[in-house]
Amino acid sequence: MNLPVTGSTAEELLAEVARLKEHDLPVRGGQVTAYVYDTGRLEVHEAATRAYVEMLEVNSLDPTAFPSVVEMERQVVGAVADLLGGGHGIFTSGGTESVMLAVKAARDLAGRERPEMVVPVTAHPAFHKAAHYLGVRVRPVPVDLGTYRARAADVEAALTADTVLVVASAPSYPQGVIDPVAEIAAVAAAAGVPCHVDACVGGWLLPWLREAGARVPPFDLSVPGVTSLSCDLHKFGYAPKGASVVLFADPAMRRAAYFASAAWPGYTVINATVQSSRSAGPLAGAWATLRALGREGYLELGRATLEAAAALREGIARVPGLRVLGEPDSALVSFASVGGEVDVFVLADEARARGWFLQPQLSYAGIPANLHVTVTGVTRAGVEAMLKVIAESAEAARLRGPVVLPEGLVELVAGLDLAALDDATFAELAASVGVDLRPGRGQPEMAVVNTVLDALPAAQREAVLVRFLSVLYG
Ligand SMILES: *Cc1c(COP(=O)(O)O)cnc(C)c1O
Repeated sequence: MNLPVTGSTAEELLAEVARLKEHDLPVRGGQVTAYVYDTGRLEVHEAATRAYVEMLEVNSLDPTAFPSVVEMERQVVGAVADLLGGGHGIFTSGGTESVMLAVKAARDLAGRERPEMVVPVTAHPAFHKAAHYLGVRVRPVPVDLGTYRARAADVEAALTADTVLVVASAPSYPQGVIDPVAEIAAVAAAAGVPCHVDACVGGWLLPWLREAGARVPPFDLSVPGVTSLSCDLHKFGYAPKGASVVLFADPAMRRAAYFASAAWPGYTVINATVQSSRSAGPLAGAWATLRALGREGYLELGRATLEAAAALREGIARVPGLRVLGEPDSALVSFASVGGEVDVFVLADEARARGWFLQPQLSYAGIPANLHVTVTGVTRAGVEAMLKVIAESAEAARLRGPVVLPEGLVELVAGLDLAALDDATFAELAASVGVDLRPGRGQPEMAVVNTVLDALPAAQREAVLVRFLSVLYG
């Protein structure tokens, strides 16, 4: 964009926004089974939007200047603590920031020279990101390849004198299963090590599923040995994005997450989060969503989610060539191909052509390539339609057959010295194998991209993904 000389009216700008959004996936209606969380109740999202806008320009940087921020945060964090076993919390911008603060607190309290943390392979990359940013080494532990749950014995075996934190997920995102939190927290506690439960996706869902009749094992701060927990309100709290809470059992650990600096001649800096200046909009959006739905609203959404997830699991199991991975404990369902009859990446492209987004997950650590569905409050109304699309797309994928990559392509990509390629050369190379990343060329055949990525080791996947982003924003 060339910055225009003269300004525009709001009407002109909003028309332009609408045009820019033309090719976006829809955020409502349940046909996008990742990224977005729809209650199906417009008035709830409307209340959140209005509160968000009302607080948009308030800066959470200085709580003494804007006491509304302190009061709202106390209420939101209090509601999360009430539901999840107590503790002392911080409102953050999302799961990644909550995890970052939990890792920082654990690192700073332990004071090890070479800090490490024990992380099951199914844990969210936010832990790898926190480790990377904070100088902590990750010791990965495998999961059981039948249940996809981490095992306490493996966690115990990975502990060293430098371990500052142990991680369990409730549930882990890829297969939606809950790690044995009580057992993992017990081995951590026995070694004197803190244990973080990543309930980013499950924290504001599992209690409602339990109340609606699901069997949910204890996973929150009431479990002995659990020292911190993350819970995203912008997932199953159905709040607008930018809303998560990290809870600490011990206020001293919360203080270790804070940051203060007086090392300059400007205003004194006290930050509870990674961000410093930040809008109070997301806090108000979360606050309003919690109040607009209330216990009854969340319980009803929990019931709908539970029913839809069960229908989805049963329905997928009936589709020839597909199987559900593990026994999901929550609203996240992943499915893979049986005996390679159906290429799931082709299935995802077929579903997308039918207006549905199913999220591809690459094979990793012995877990096969699969597709992931996040069941939300609106899924129940559309679950039969979703199953029909999955069945049709599976049949179409079977007829098309699996992606066949040009001979030598994987070896070529695996052997690329990406550091020696500029973005333009990378984009040309991608285009030459049919993956056109250049602006305005539309959606590339993602099955090809995913098949190439799937064939690469993780480090090379990461290098290619970084390059992809760089080209996209070229
Ligand atoms: C979503 C998620 C995160 C990261 O949260 P963001 O809000 O995307 O930063 C961490 N852990 C789990 C299990 C998640 O599902």
